Amino acid sequence: MFKKAYIKTYGCQMNEYDSEVMAGLLTKDHYQLTSKPEEADLIILNTCYVREKVKQKIYSKLGEIKKLKEKNPHLILGVCGCVAQRRPEEVLQQAPYVDFILGTFNFYRLPLVVRRVRESGERIVDVEERETIPEKLPKLRKNRFSAYVPIMRGCDNFCTYCNVPYVRGRERSRLPEDILREVEELSCQGYKEVTLLGQNVNSYGKGLENRLDFADLLTRINCIEGIERIRFTTSHPKDITDKLIQRMRDLDKVCEHLHLPVQAGSNKVLKRMRRGYTKERYLELVDKIRKTIPQISLTTDIIVGFPGESEQDFQETLDLVRKVEFDGAFTFCYSRIKGTEAAEFEDQLPEEVKKERLRRLIQLQREILEKRNKSLVGQKFEVLVEGLSKKSSDELQGRTRTNKVVVFKGSPDLVGKLVQVKIVDSSQWALRGEICG
Ligand code: SAH
Ligand code: SF4
Repeated sequence: MFKKAYIKTYGCQMNEYDSEVMAGLLTKDHYQLTSKPEEADLIILNTCYVREKVKQKIYSKLGEIKKLKEKNPHLILGVCGCVAQRRPEEVLQQAPYVDFILGTFNFYRLPLVVRRVRESGERIVDVEERETIPEKLPKLRKNRFSAYVPIMRGCDNFCTYCNVPYVRGRERSRLPEDILREVEELSCQGYKEVTLLGQNVNSYGKGLENRLDFADLLTRINCIEGIERIRFTTSHPKDITDKLIQRMRDLDKVCEHLHLPVQAGSNKVLKRMRRGYTKERYLELVDKIRKTIPQISLTTDIIVGFPGESEQDFQETLDLVRKVEFDGAFTFCYSRIKGTEAAEFEDQLPEEVKKERLRRLIQLQREILEKRNKSLVGQKFEVLVEGLSKKSSDELQGRTRTNKVVVFKGSPDLVGKLVQVKIVDSSQWALRGEICG
């Protein structure tokens, strides 16, 4: 009989991709995936450590799993991902019943490690940093039409608040031929959309022998038959080139959406964050992008309550948000993460101040989004149908090239297909449409 594995993923798309690889490896090793932790023989938490709160959530999940381990002594529990990489001792202290810890550099060794734990009962901690991750690993992808494809790992930017360079290591680009092969395989399997992943995709190619930059990589992927849409995330504003903006305009498969995290609107704060641009440069960049690609939708990430952020600094953030009118924003209270530079800054703000600023920012962004979405009513969009709507089973849900979610009536046979949809209604959350043409 098959053994059952339960994988819980926290955090970003890169973690989701790593989980798809772990699921692929386990399936090859005769495991069946389950969505019920209580029936699993193996539980894996693929963890995120971008904010302290996420780490706390993971520890409380480990507390729940302890009860399952007490009921089933053969249950194997592994902690992978960013908390595992950065705080292996702390994980073992919090949850001494964990059987193995596999860091972000070593997740592909999962089947080997599980077998060793099962055979010898020993506890394994593997957080050694490695230069590369092997290619051609099996994957069990969650989505049948849209796939993640990492093009690089790690980050060299060391923004002062950020844990990523510590949990994911230095920036390493995958070879273009490996990326192109993966996308070609996806096309053969019927995938229509790829999302290229990296912490800073605009610096793709650094350190490669036959250097190909990100704009050239996009151009090559654009030639792959069968793939209809190309997305990518994340773009660092300091590294966006004119060449990239022009290619985005010219390459037919590259979608009109750019996630461009700004983080803050005050130059003082941006400098202390070590972002490498000013508010003015960011606004100029937005202007240039919108002039070149008028239909573009822009989304962002913003942190409020960074150490030393005054009310005046925060007003600069609100001002930037009003000026740009983003189509979406992930907004966060600054989280003080031990080991990062900003955690040592002395002018930390009280939690209530951060929360109150976050509330004001969210309110403003909601109003902007409502207004922007309303302006789309009456327009037609190409939509990739992703599946049944989450709210109602007789409706479909899909995304425009600008990454807006649209809900509409239609036959389930359309899932995975591209359809034309006219927008008939809108809210701050989603657009409602009707299939046309
Ligand atoms: N590479 C991406 C971001 C990766 S982390 C970039 O450079 O934009 C995703 C987001 O988490 C960041 O954009 C930031 O907004 C948020 N974040 C990272 N560290 C944080 C911290 N210490 N506190 C609050 N938010 C944080
Ligand atoms: Fe973190 Fe900055 Fe690198 Fe993004 S660019 S991952 S925010 S260090």
